[in-house]
Amino acid sequence: MKKITIAIDGYSSCGKSTMAKDLAKEIGYIYIDSGAMYRAVTLYCLEHGLINGDTIDTETLKSDLPDLSITFKLNPETGRPLTYLNGQLVEDKIRTLAVSSKVSLVAALDFVRTAMVSLQQQMGKEKGIVMDGRDIGTTVFPDAELKIFVTASPEIRAQRRYDELQAKGETGSYEEILQNVKERDLIDTTRKVSPLCKADDALVLDNSHMTISQQKQWLAERFKEVVGE
Ligand code: C5P
Repeated sequence: MKKITIAIDGYSSCGKSTMAKDLAKEIGYIYIDSGAMYRAVTLYCLEHGLINGDTIDTETLKSDLPDLSITFKLNPETGRPLTYLNGQLVEDKIRTLAVSSKVSLVAALDFVRTAMVSLQQQMGKEKGIVMDGRDIGTTVFPDAELKIFVTASPEIRAQRRYDELQAKGETGSYEEILQNVKERDLIDTTRKVSPLCKADDALVLDNSHMTISQQKQWLAERFKEVVGE
């Protein structure tokens, strides 16, 4: 069967990666979490003292960026990808609130986006890929055969993130998380380079009141429609 490219974009914490990962596993495609790449760059900045409040040492980041290696390896137990930064497993570290609260600032830098987009395009050049993010259907793969734009209310998204962090034993109040969700929405939708927006040909999915299995089914049906099964 011919392989296609699947782009899943949308707001933070709206369940894009769960849907994308599960679909990729089911149909035997590669799954790439583009947000993890921006998170890895942000972790690098934090660990190297390149972020001070809302100010980023862009000169140092610009010169260090070409030497950063961001890779993914499948977790053999869960079949899900794990993120590595310069060969070190950083999957948990990139999901902390410390990284979440700075990632949109880092992701708004044009030279960071140029580097990540080019890596992402490289990863998807053979097709057979499901990638989720903010600009996949608009900038990374504008010719993707299936584009989905996912949305849900900020309160529901904050609750989902809160539950996720609680389950991992991380601290963080619901209010703090809600504020982070809203701040990221604002930065992501108003930044100059590739702002978060729906591609004209993307299908909208508001999953505020859907279960994970309902979303999975919805996505599987859209995939079948496109590949003509
Ligand atoms: O998807 P996730 O919430 O992990 O992404 C973290 C952040 O990375 C987003 O809030 C956004 O600022 C940035 N991002 C982006 N473009 C992408 C993916 C993520 O700007 N394609």
